[in-house]
Amino acid sequence: MALKCQPTASHFIDGEYIEDTDGKIIECIYPATGEKIAKLHSATPKIIEMALESAKHAQKSWAKLSGTERGRILRKASDIIRERNRELSVLETYDTGKPLQETLYVDATSAADALEYFGGLAGSITGEHIPLGEDWAYTKRIPIGLCVGIGAWNYPTQIACWKGAPALACGNSMVFKPSEMTPLCALKIAEILIEAGAPKGIYNVIQGYGDVGAKLVSDPRVDKVSLTGSAETGKKVYSSAALGMKNVTMELGGKSPLIIFDDADIENAVSGAMLANMYSTGQVCSNGTRVFVQSSIKEVFLKRFIERATKIIIGDPMDEETQFGPMVSEKQRDIVMSFIEKGKAEGATLAFGGNIIESSGWFIEPTVFSDVTDEMTIAKEEIFGPVMSVFDFENEDEVIARANDTDLGLAGGVFTNDIKRAHRVVDQLEAGTCFINSYNDAPVEVPFGGIKGSGVGRENSKAAIEHFSQLKTVYVRMGNVDSPY
Ligand code: NAD
Repeated sequence: MALKCQPTASHFIDGEYIEDTDGKIIECIYPATGEKIAKLHSATPKIIEMALESAKHAQKSWAKLSGTERGRILRKASDIIRERNRELSVLETYDTGKPLQETLYVDATSAADALEYFGGLAGSITGEHIPLGEDWAYTKRIPIGLCVGIGAWNYPTQIACWKGAPALACGNSMVFKPSEMTPLCALKIAEILIEAGAPKGIYNVIQGYGDVGAKLVSDPRVDKVSLTGSAETGKKVYSSAALGMKNVTMELGGKSPLIIFDDADIENAVSGAMLANMYSTGQVCSNGTRVFVQSSIKEVFLKRFIERATKIIIGDPMDEETQFGPMVSEKQRDIVMSFIEKGKAEGATLAFGGNIIESSGWFIEPTVFSDVTDEMTIAKEEIFGPVMSVFDFENEDEVIARANDTDLGLAGGVFTNDIKRAHRVVDQLEAGTCFINSYNDAPVEVPFGGIKGSGVGRENSKAAIEHFSQLKTVYVRMGNVDSPY
């Protein structure tokens, strides 16, 4: 299949597309139909070497530009992305299977937001002056150096920019490795950055499976690693980075709670639960998949959720009416189906969906379990698919304890009309990102990331600047040196 804006080779290094057919084959498959849309090659040692050397070399002069000069290029790239939003959204839909109705509004646009926001901040990345009587000190925020970004498959364009934009704004260079499941979109970002005037080599993209990611992480030339992926991969990458004393940002998985109290606006709570479980066919790290509903409203909540879930338009992701696409891959569909089977076997009530939708793609139905108890597998493990588990609860203290009873801590939400309770509850939730009467909003101005097993560091907002730069302190003595020797 010829895509309108398909990248022309597997890798983008030092300002140009490059191929090395000796690398392992990566088949790119359109999840909605199972069609092969591109054949790429995993990076060979030669490609990895080229990418790292080019980025190492480019970083020095990139860091010497003023922040405003760097920012101007990022903002230009943002403008180009917005102009090409439709074709980039179509590519994202081919890469992931997510409906165009989503990708037109969420993917290239959030990438553009990140480039615009960090481009705007780049000129304001400064240190401070610290008066010490006659003497004084100052700090500078300096780049970390050569950064590696490794992406998951659910938001390939967004992840490429959530990592790339703050890294470049701070004067770093980046070698980005997309997920092997969604290799196409990041290549377009690299191409657009060059078109916007970025120097060659400051943002290289190479393809590969986990072994390529592992080689990048352990390379001594690399100063920082930012991973978006599963908690399991996070542990491997974090420990490998630790051996080289590298900086890390870890954006990992979640099993987040969404708590709905009996005074909540039911329609809003249902909307929140829909967004927290069905958007992107449930393939969102921060999803609120453990939905705790106060017993007195459980039946009405479930009834209304199912009425609305019945109307979700499932089908061809390229049709802008479609609201719900396939899973990203056959493997992910099978993983999700095995969780659904476990839910049934362990005694949860299948309240809605639960089946594969017969087609050439990897569609499954939006699925709801009720009567889920805390020890069930579907209550404990990240499913990463459109499977919502509904739990009953009686009171606030009980639900907070149960919501926090997980090793993960990415997100959490509460629906209530009691303003004091809303803040009291989120205050106690062990999660990096919380929502009150909403779910899954992630504007670039706001820090995003997890605590506990869900990660280290933050993406987006001014917080990301701290994670892509480091402080240098300079002490200045104005008088004589008072030495006892
Ligand atoms: P994954 O962990 O399987 O893979 C993520 C990336 O890591 C891929 O590019 C993969 O090739 C690479 N990788 C695998 N093994 C590696 C190794 N040993 N060294 C270096 N790199 C390696 O995750 P996935 O299946 O692509 O994505 C789904 C997971 O990502 C879910 O757990 C989801 O919650 C998480 N996620 C988190 C966020 C967040 O911001 N917190 C966002 C999206 C997805």
